[in-house]
Amino acid sequence: MGSEKAKRADGGVSETTFFDEGDLVAVLTAQPLDRLLDYKAPEGGCLTGAFVEVPLGPRKVIGVVWGPGKGDFDIKKVRPVIRVLDAAPMRPGMREFLTRVADYTLTPMSAMVRLATRSPGLGDPPSMRKIYRLGQGEPDRWTPARRKVLGVLQEFGGLSFTLRELAEMAGVSGSVIKGLVSQGVVAEEQSPRDVPYPMLDPKRAGVELAPDQLAAADKLREKVKSGSYGTTLLKGVTGSGKTEVYLEAVAECLHQGRQALVLLPEIALTAEFLNRVEERFGARPAEWHSGVTMTERRRCWRMVGEGGAQLVVGARSALYLPFRELGLIVVDEEHDTSYKQEDGVVYSARDMAVLRASIESAQVVLASATPSLESWANAQAGKYDRLELTSRFGQARLPQLAAIDMRAETLASNRWISPTLQKEVAARVGRGEQSLLFINRRGYAPVTICRACGNQIGCDHCDARMVEHRFLKRLVCHQCGETRPMPEKCPSCEAEGRLAPVGPGVERLAEEVGTLFPDARIAVLSSDLFGSARALKEQIVSIAEGAADIIIGTQLVAKGHNFPLLTLVGVIDADLGLQGSDLRAAERTFQLMRQVSGRAGRAEKRGVALLQTFQPEHPVIRAILAGDEEGFWRAEAAERKAAGVPPYGRLAGIILSSPNVQEVFDFGSEMARRDAPLRAIGARLYGPAPAPIARIRGRHRVRLLVKADKNAPIQKALSAWVSQFRIPGNLRLQIDIDPQSFY
Ligand code: ADP
Ligand code: ZN
Repeated sequence: MGSEKAKRADGGVSETTFFDEGDLVAVLTAQPLDRLLDYKAPEGGCLTGAFVEVPLGPRKVIGVVWGPGKGDFDIKKVRPVIRVLDAAPMRPGMREFLTRVADYTLTPMSAMVRLATRSPGLGDPPSMRKIYRLGQGEPDRWTPARRKVLGVLQEFGGLSFTLRELAEMAGVSGSVIKGLVSQGVVAEEQSPRDVPYPMLDPKRAGVELAPDQLAAADKLREKVKSGSYGTTLLKGVTGSGKTEVYLEAVAECLHQGRQALVLLPEIALTAEFLNRVEERFGARPAEWHSGVTMTERRRCWRMVGEGGAQLVVGARSALYLPFRELGLIVVDEEHDTSYKQEDGVVYSARDMAVLRASIESAQVVLASATPSLESWANAQAGKYDRLELTSRFGQARLPQLAAIDMRAETLASNRWISPTLQKEVAARVGRGEQSLLFINRRGYAPVTICRACGNQIGCDHCDARMVEHRFLKRLVCHQCGETRPMPEKCPSCEAEGRLAPVGPGVERLAEEVGTLFPDARIAVLSSDLFGSARALKEQIVSIAEGAADIIIGTQLVAKGHNFPLLTLVGVIDADLGLQGSDLRAAERTFQLMRQVSGRAGRAEKRGVALLQTFQPEHPVIRAILAGDEEGFWRAEAAERKAAGVPPYGRLAGIILSSPNVQEVFDFGSEMARRDAPLRAIGARLYGPAPAPIARIRGRHRVRLLVKADKNAPIQKALSAWVSQFRIPGNLRLQIDIDPQSFY
């Protein structure tokens, strides 16, 4: 047995061992068994970390060799590993990462393995595809179409193409190419699909940086060069050139021969970002998110592991890709709530990025115009470095901010655009500039009410109202996704034609804009109006190029898109986020409003952002208008400190759900009664209480909340507490460490 000790000692996961045929190995699978299973190493042996196929009962499942077998099972019954998969073994750092995420989030290892083996077709043999290149033969006759094909092949010398690419480039149909294949003029071959990504060139010159950008870039380059762990908060208003700065850190990382990962909160942002990467480094990076085809995902997973991908741009789950030599993780828009995964493994991608980087001796850059209070506090405490870009790049300046006091405006019923805002939009339309009207509500109207009986149409499975989507002609539950056709009659009193929409959603606002500005070109950006991520990307690119006068959007538009012609942002209801009982309500509203208002005036023209509000004197609205960020953070931090809540204390949410309402309350009360392990660390338990959304998908929901001191060993106490109970079959218990939302 050859053994190679990895960088860190941590109880075994960083040990790499070669097992000879017949040696006992412990295999971790994605099956919810919560223990390692012993197998015999297969013919040819295997390494720790090897991806393997093993028999489990009558089935074959995929797993990872985790270490030597325990030998606590009848040796005669131990079966051999079926085969070692054709994929690079999981590296020690990755095994350590999975173990520590599991410990932190109290997730079973089987669920972690599932996250780490998300490659489609991991067990398949290398996938092949047909490619076409110049052959030797002569055609029986020349047609113009045939000449075009030959022209393309000759122009691109040694390159080969897929049928579709070649047909597209030559502007001919596939049958023309097939005809040339039959005569040997074009050669058709099988080639592996998972090919390395084109090389990015970090030596290509980037844009010339402004002095504050240059200082920040130098600092980041130096940190990347150090080859050690560190986290930097890169703060700067939207348009201050943060992306240009962190691309310099990426360049340094590639230059060191290490891989970089850039996380973006929204798939729709990737199109613009990929173009920028291509401009900067001469080729496009690998992509990893739900909008990418299975084939591409498979290629990405493999190439990341084999070193054929230098840079990955992706969603939060890209953190679990098998990087070979990760040197840098950028979390763009680090405050964004979509970094918190709420289903299955409940984790914060931002926090886990920091963990992964510390294991890999890599750097993290957290970029944001409006950092989360957590990151702000970590920088204040000196745990993170902080770099700041203070001016917008070039002439672009921060937008002028003002409130529109809705108490002083006259509005017709079912109208939401104030006369003041309308005038400003009209002026922009006249000048050929863009306006953005922001409303953070999808659909046509949030409530549908029966004017005969007063009934509000609700979801049958959830404690939520159905939202009318006129575009789809359906009612949709935003909780569970249940939809049904818009009814003609009230489902409660059966009165006909008495159903009426109440309140505005993005679609209804679009209707109002259409009436007010019949000649303007209107674009609506809401995630549910687009069939695919690709369609949304295209729409965003065309808007950026000027294809719309008025953009109406939900929070989708708040996230980092670049619309150079945009000079006005109107926030329809700035009060919307202030009503929540969530501990982060003020922070969220502050961030969202700043992000949205940051959309205006990104190019040469100064932008204006107008906030329609009924409470212009609210502290959050005032902080936004005054542009006093540090003041807002300090006040918010003081409040949280006083209350002992994150980031100055620790919280864990327990969500119990069951189809049986009695059972779920009984179980919750039982948990509350036996809370000694929590009291042992000085933690306090609140609840059980019905969750704010008391029913989702037919399951009744109850919450408990554990609150502890910042340094209390909360995970240990939670596992000791939870392990006292036998969880009934139809009851689900979910633990949410550092909860972000409390629904
Ligand atoms: P942020 O990421 O902070 O929103 P970006 O990096 O996207 O800012 O920069 C905003 C715009 O300004 C982009 O179009 C970018 O290409 C441009 N820009 C930023 N820095 C420079 C620079 N030094 N030279 C030229 N253009 C720049
Ligand atoms: Zn529902």
